[in-house]
Amino acid sequence: MKRILLKLSGEALAGDKKTGFDEPTVTKVASQVKQLVDKGIDVGIVIGGGNFWRGRSSETIDRTKADQIGMLATVMNCIYVSEIFRSVGMMTQILTPFACGSFTKLFSKDRVNKYFEKGVVSFFAGGTGHPYFSTDTATVLRAIEIEADVILLAKSIDGVYDSDPKDNPNAKKYDEITIQEVIDKKLGVVDMAASILCMENKMPMMVFGLNQENSIVNTVNGNFTGTKVTV
Ligand code: UDP
Repeated sequence: MKRILLKLSGEALAGDKKTGFDEPTVTKVASQVKQLVDKGIDVGIVIGGGNFWRGRSSETIDRTKADQIGMLATVMNCIYVSEIFRSVGMMTQILTPFACGSFTKLFSKDRVNKYFEKGVVSFFAGGTGHPYFSTDTATVLRAIEIEADVILLAKSIDGVYDSDPKDNPNAKKYDEITIQEVIDKKLGVVDMAASILCMENKMPMMVFGLNQENSIVNTVNGNFTGTKVTV
């Protein structure tokens, strides 16, 4: 793997608190990503916004406006995580699809390639910039655009199961599954729009648990215990 796109869910940043940031959790992620950058791997990051806000959770306000708040939540998350990354010695930049003044840079593929050449970790904040999308779609979109080898999906669950292990004690974990099966069985690894984008553009995903010790580094080094989604 030479270039990866790592997706972290907003909830994962919050640890047990479920909201806001859990610094020890983010610091552990930072030290793992540093090991990858030190090996010369290009790392792009997308972070969800669920630790602050989800557009569809408000039944009162206009969905487009609610989604704008969600996209801004992902910018806050990226600013925080980017600073923690800097505190452990990495160079970082945050890119958004819309202008955020001096807080971020506008996303462009050429700009990202220049950052990667210098060993800078690139955060893709603000989702796709459009309502009715998600950071899942933004993850796949950015992975395709930057020509990543693979998407690493770090989740609160350690892989893809045939049913929810919280409800079904006999749920079976897949070592490998095709994106077509994920779609047909509605397994919800990423949302449907993101799944289709993955399939059409042949972008594989490695799904694993963020809470398992060293799971990001282990996944890249081939000690993978999650589920590979093939295309
Ligand atoms: N969002 C959006 N467009 C995007 C990405 C995100 O509108 O391209 C908004 C949407 O409101 C979403 C929130 O940002 O609920 C947080 O993103 P995330 O993907 O974490 O949300 P989830 O899929 O968990 O609702």
